[in-house]
Amino acid sequence: MKYEYVDIHCHLAFKRYKDDLDEVLKRMREAKVFAVTIGTDLPHSKVAVELAGKHDDIYATVGLHPADNEKEVFETSNYEQFMRDSNVVMVGECGLDYYHEKEEEGRKRQRDEFEKQIEFAVLHDKPLMLHIRDAHDDAIEILSSKKKEHGEKIRGNSHFFTASKEIAKKYYELNFSTSFPGVITFTKDYDETVKYAPSDLILSETDAPYAAPVPYRGKRNEPSYVIEVVKRIAEIRGENIEDLKRQILENAEKLTGLRLS
Ligand SMILES: [Zn+2]
Repeated sequence: MKYEYVDIHCHLAFKRYKDDLDEVLKRMREAKVFAVTIGTDLPHSKVAVELAGKHDDIYATVGLHPADNEKEVFETSNYEQFMRDSNVVMVGECGLDYYHEKEEEGRKRQRDEFEKQIEFAVLHDKPLMLHIRDAHDDAIEILSSKKKEHGEKIRGNSHFFTASKEIAKKYYELNFSTSFPGVITFTKDYDETVKYAPSDLILSETDAPYAAPVPYRGKRNEPSYVIEVVKRIAEIRGENIEDLKRQILENAEKLTGLRLS
């Protein structure tokens, strides 16, 4: 098998890896981790795509994060260039972040930018990488109405999933997977959700450089640490880790359309 683990969401294009990216990637390869590096705005999307072009085991997403770069307006014409690149597997991270945006005017801007990116993903028939924080009701409402319009073309993954199983259920009904981060290694708050996730809609992520799992908590996170997340998912669900690893690989294949095993 080519890969054993999946880090469906990390940020290798960030400056925090500029001094030692080669070593980070070496550890990732030793651990047999497949990684998707995430674009958060136009400059970071460009670096993510370049990185994916240089490395066989890295793929990229392109998009505009709801709260990371509030000056950028999502322009289809700027992102169109990336979609001819076979290393670009998803659109995002895009979505709604009401935790970082308290004003209604700003929230309206987020919804507009989100809808534009959903349409862009549909146009290119790509899945969405969602970033939704304190805004699940609005996100579900938008996705449901787009689903009515576009059907199965609306699909993807809700990243850093730390919400109740009732909320998770709504994503599963829309055929979105949820990826769980390192947070589940140091709190039991989401155990019920992790247990509830259907086998075919569960994924693992680091969100590196953020939110490192135990025993690396407080340090800069990196894709090789996703092993700790997968171990914990298996523990919470009472599943055999080898079976879970295979299942997550299969789910990542289905989501990205890539052959990983
Ligand atoms: Zn992210």
